[in-house]
Amino acid sequence: MKALVYHGPEKKSWDEVPDPTLVDATDAVVQVDTTTICGTDLHILKGDVPTVTEGRILGHEGVGTVVAVGSSVRNITVGDRVIISCISSCGVCTYCRSGNPSHCLADEGAPGIGWILGHLIDGTQAELVRIPFADNSLYRLPEGVADDEALLLSDILPTGFEIGVQYGRVKPGDTVAVVGAGPVGLAVIATAGLYGAAQIVAIDLDENRLDLAKQVGATQGVNSGASDWKEQVLSLTDGYGVDVAVEAVGTPATFDMCTQIVRPGGNVANVGVHGKPVQLDLQELWIKNINISMGLVNTTTLGMLLKLVAQHKLPVQQFVTHRFALDDIVAAYETFGNAAQTHALKVLMTR
Ligand code: NAD
Ligand code: ZN
Repeated sequence: MKALVYHGPEKKSWDEVPDPTLVDATDAVVQVDTTTICGTDLHILKGDVPTVTEGRILGHEGVGTVVAVGSSVRNITVGDRVIISCISSCGVCTYCRSGNPSHCLADEGAPGIGWILGHLIDGTQAELVRIPFADNSLYRLPEGVADDEALLLSDILPTGFEIGVQYGRVKPGDTVAVVGAGPVGLAVIATAGLYGAAQIVAIDLDENRLDLAKQVGATQGVNSGASDWKEQVLSLTDGYGVDVAVEAVGTPATFDMCTQIVRPGGNVANVGVHGKPVQLDLQELWIKNINISMGLVNTTTLGMLLKLVAQHKLPVQQFVTHRFALDDIVAAYETFGNAAQTHALKVLMTR
């Protein structure tokens, strides 16, 4: 088969590789019908994720058709159209049973890390992919849900909802600010209304992203390039700050922005993946009764979000900006890697 193979920092190619096969009785092999590129894949290509070794097939998002299942797979059968969760989890270890499958202890190569696809084992940017713990890591697609809607459920919609909205404890009437309106920030914006947010303020440097944010549910947009960005945000509240500030970039500066705009008693939900230490000004924050949360997505809400997508209750159409054939994945990487120029948000590759 063909697959997008990582050959070390800055090096990737669409190579002929052996087809994956069933290894464990709990595996499935899935024909990838639609996949996409995540910002994390760009981090890997920069060499920021040293646990990804040369020869690894990238990709942790995908929708496909099951072509083989192991002897102990019960819920999934050959021919099923499925969503592939970015988290592979056994369902029975102590972390899986306590609601944190992102730390599944059974995952091969790295007990305690649920994100293995396109990281520690071969991923979804390929014609076929082997999925461990198929019963728990695949979700059958109902009729009427298109691949490009379902694809957002592999990672970004659960990430925005679980780590932004749920960890941020959004409640009815809240004003929620989301710093960073990339795919993940937009997923926070698209799902914050589920818990009754009254105002959803998108904050980004890119006007195009602020426009997109309004299309998926932001009530206001603030360009943080403006010197008075903070005053603009506070003026949308009673002056004391937002109830929930979500960090969806992954830099010290944007985390700091969240702590500046959150009101006493409020929540800062960090979604961004940080590569550098972040200073935490506890000497100022302790007295404000702030909650700070963070985490790796569990995708435990994938099934619930799928029901909403199936009923067209979430604005998922706006996320896909570019489409390619799977064979043209290298060109898709170019487009996605130059998002500021191409205005790419989610690039889709279809078989
Ligand atoms: P992205 O790079 O596509 O988007 C980031 C956005 O932040 C861009 O629109 C950019 O213009 C904006 N931005 C950058 N600097 C800014 C600033 N100073 N002020 C305001 N906006 C600024 O990223 P993404 O794919 O949307 O992912 C967002 C973060 O979420 C990343 O760090 C990613 O690694 C992380 N992530 C976390 C999880 C998890 O489980 N916690 C899962 C997936 C992704
Ligand atoms: Zn487990």
